[in-house]
Amino acid sequence: SNHLSDRVQKMSTSATLAMAAKARELRNEGKDIIGLSLGEPDFNIPDFIKESAKQAIDDNYSSYTPVDGYADLKKAISNKFERDNNLEYAPNQIVVSTGAKQSLFNVAMVVLNLGDEVILPAPYWVSYSDIVKLAEAVPVEVKTGIETDFKMTPAQLEAAITPRTKMLWFSSPCNPSGSVYSKAELEGLAEVLKKHPNIYVVSDEIYEHINFRGGHVSIAGIDGMFNRTITVNGVSKAFAMTGWRIGYIGAPEWIAKGCTKLQGQVTSGANAIAQRAVITALEAPKSKIQYMIDEFHKRRDLVLELLGEIDGFKLNVPEGAFYVFPDVSAFFGRTLHGVAINNASDFAMYLLEHANVATVTGEAFGNPNCIRISYAASEKELREAISRIKAAV
Ligand code: PLP
Repeated sequence: SNHLSDRVQKMSTSATLAMAAKARELRNEGKDIIGLSLGEPDFNIPDFIKESAKQAIDDNYSSYTPVDGYADLKKAISNKFERDNNLEYAPNQIVVSTGAKQSLFNVAMVVLNLGDEVILPAPYWVSYSDIVKLAEAVPVEVKTGIETDFKMTPAQLEAAITPRTKMLWFSSPCNPSGSVYSKAELEGLAEVLKKHPNIYVVSDEIYEHINFRGGHVSIAGIDGMFNRTITVNGVSKAFAMTGWRIGYIGAPEWIAKGCTKLQGQVTSGANAIAQRAVITALEAPKSKIQYMIDEFHKRRDLVLELLGEIDGFKLNVPEGAFYVFPDVSAFFGRTLHGVAINNASDFAMYLLEHANVATVTGEAFGNPNCIRISYAASEKELREAISRIKAAV
């Protein structure tokens, strides 16, 4: 393995995938593990979307697609941006990719140079820092805690900016904290950015629809931000289409062109059948997916109530996505069933081995005091998992 490139040796393995692998291993040994580590809706893809994919196969959508996506899909995305976000992205500002993850990778490769700094309000989604590093740039973490609902303040942003700062990347609703930035909060950040016109913003809005407060706000819609924001979105979460691998960006045209150029040498574009199905998904009224959002909302309340009964779990109220991110630092320094708990990784491992519940350490998200618990699981599993956690601690 020492023949591996330096680039790949320096990468960390996705902690969420590593936890899932460890859970699988224990399951193979016959243990009854409840998996609350993955960021994946537990719903089936809605039937009306399946039907359009079947139709696309019969209609012979089997050739290479345009590198940046079918023209009618880009039109549907443009309409979606206008309908849901009040953003006017023309089709030449849109690029369709193999998941939002690839969209993020494209943007990093297209915008960043060696040594550029990228501000990541922590906790952030696991892959941001490794994607940034792959582009030879430097992640600059801005630590936030439960006292600001895990949101970065304008003062913190200001303090993190240096002459090398090239970008800010964040998600709202946030994975892992579930926090949602309000319009006023985004305006506060935009106010700081106004003084630094060379900084670009990646706004990852993949959890847009899974928002229990309502009123998703895109930072691209705030005064002065449109021409310096890359809005990233996709269908994995809202439409339960994780395996279909379609994500997209709306961005300044030069960035969209760069992403298309890059993608043209790397993937030649996203899967044809999935692209056809996504047209159907994006054209559907939101009422077609509301049942999933309502269910997540119910489970969020349940999980908060049950975890709230456990001493040592400090919780914010996540307003979106499908995770809770309890601060469990009260356990650090204690010994549970002979196991010393010194950090969130020890705690997550302890829960896996002594409660048979898979969660993810907050360290992977840049917050060493917390663990992430996904509630994309049935109510029965959630009740059982939390009662096991309670018994184990
Ligand atoms: N961004 C965030 C914040 C995510 O949580 C995820 C998936 O976990 C992604 C992007 C990637 O989504 P996709 O499945 O479209 O690659």
